[in-house]
Order: sequence, then structure tokens, then C-alpha cells
Amino acid sequence: MSLTMLQNFLLLHPALSAVCAGAIGACVGSFINVCIYRIPQGISIVTPASRCACGKPIPFWFNIPLFGWLMLRGRADCCGAKISLRYPLIELITALFYAAAWLLLPPAKASVACVLLPLLILLAGCDLDDMMVPDAPNFALVGTGLFFSILLPSIHGETSHNIEVINRIHAATDSLIGIAVGTALVWWIRTIGTVLAGREAMGEADIILCAGIGAYCGWQGAAFCLFGGSVIGVITALPGMILSKIKGEEYTGVVPFVPSLATAGTIWFFRGPELVMAWHQWVNS
Ligand SMILES: [Zn+2]
Repeated sequence: MSLTMLQNFLLLHPALSAVCAGAIGACVGSFINVCIYRIPQGISIVTPASRCACGKPIPFWFNIPLFGWLMLRGRADCCGAKISLRYPLIELITALFYAAAWLLLPPAKASVACVLLPLLILLAGCDLDDMMVPDAPNFALVGTGLFFSILLPSIHGETSHNIEVINRIHAATDSLIGIAVGTALVWWIRTIGTVLAGREAMGEADIILCAGIGAYCGWQGAAFCLFGGSVIGVITALPGMILSKIKGEEYTGVVPFVPSLATAGTIWFFRGPELVMAWHQWVNS
């Protein structure tokens, strides 16, 4: 079967291809789990093959994304140790995102999503796990964002010029401005917030992440990532804040900001232009 035939087949059977995209996503999610566990500890993500916490190697059929965990019903086969729900959850989330990207986005943007989404899930997972956000995948976000902007200018909507190089230059400019705006916005908010709060508000990881969203989505994406992410962060922290207020205790929880920023960035990547249109309609109504 030639590549064009495969392409046509996939376009004619969207449900079937969404299931395929989801299956690939589940496998990527399984790899993200390995990365979340190993990268902060400085262990290689390639070798050794996956092992149980007790040291015994895990047979490959128990490593099949989602099904492995279901077959084991959340307990290791070798020693009965509990396997965190986090593993199947990350596989499921990645699978759903891959299927959604295939169904909702144009082909160029959907293929870019296959790189952007795993990086965001990885960074969010590391932050939720132990508040340690590794630099390498974060900088990879900025680098790949710029790279894909030049390779596929249509992800920035730059398709109008009939000379392809001009579209690429425009998209690269959108991306670079996005990086600059993302960096500057978070840096300023962090500086002012730190002065006002008397303790470090936001971390360097937040700056790089917003710059990365800017690289993929332009300056509007970077701005939405920061402000939308702040709203999401506050909403997720609210139940804890209210609960400690009721109990009369001081709120000591820390809001993991990276997952909130990553969520806002993902929303913008999927539906940014539509959000701008809805905003204009709302303002002008
Ligand atoms: Zn074991």
C-alpha cells in the first residue's frame, strides 16, 4: 500500500484512524511514565528495561499500555506492590489527546501536536510528582516549537503567500515573537510577584514553558498560557484554600503551576483562533 493510499484510507475512516492515533498515544504515554520517573533521578530513559520497584523485570505483556495495569488490577505480579493509578491515567490522557488531535486538527497541526502534547504532559507530570521540572524537555519545547514553525508555517496560519519561503519567514517571526513575549511576561510577573509576596512567585520552569507555548502558538498563545494558566491554577487551588479557611488553618498548599500553564497552552493550541473570534463577537455584541 502506497503512502497516498494509506492517507486516503485514514481520511475515509476517521473513527478507525482515531483509534489508531489513540493506541499510538497510549504507547507514548507509557514512555512519558518512564521519563517522569527517570529523568528527575538522572537515570537513562532507554536502559535498563522496565523493572518493578522490587527489582524484578516486568514481562512485556504487563507493559502493554492501559491493558497491563487492568490485567494486573493495579498490583505488581511479582511482589503484589500497588501500582499507582498515575500510570494508566497518563496513558489514557495521552491516548485521548492523540485521538482528539487527529479528529479536531488539520494534518500539519495534528502531527505537531504529537510532539507538543507529550512534552507538556511530561513537564506537568514531573511538577505534580515532586515539583522538580527538568530543563531538557522544557528547552526542547522552545526548540521544537521554532523548528516546526519553520517546517510547517501553517501551524501559525501562515499560508497566504505563494512563495513558500516568505510563509516560513513569517511563521518563524511569529514563533520568535512568541518566545520573547512568553519570556518577558512571566519574567515581569515573577519579579513583581516576588516583591509583593516576599517569596519566590513562579519559577524559571514557568518562564521556559510560556516561551515554549509562544514558540508553538505565537504571542497570543504565550499570553493566554500565562493568564489562562493563572486562572486554572487558582480554580484548582480554591477547594484547598476554602477547606483550610473553614478549618481555621493557614493555607500551606503549593499550587503546581506547570500543569495549569500546560493546560492553558493545550487549550490554546487546539482552539486558539476560535477563542479570539468568540472574544471579538462577545466584545462587539
Ligand atoms: Zn515486584
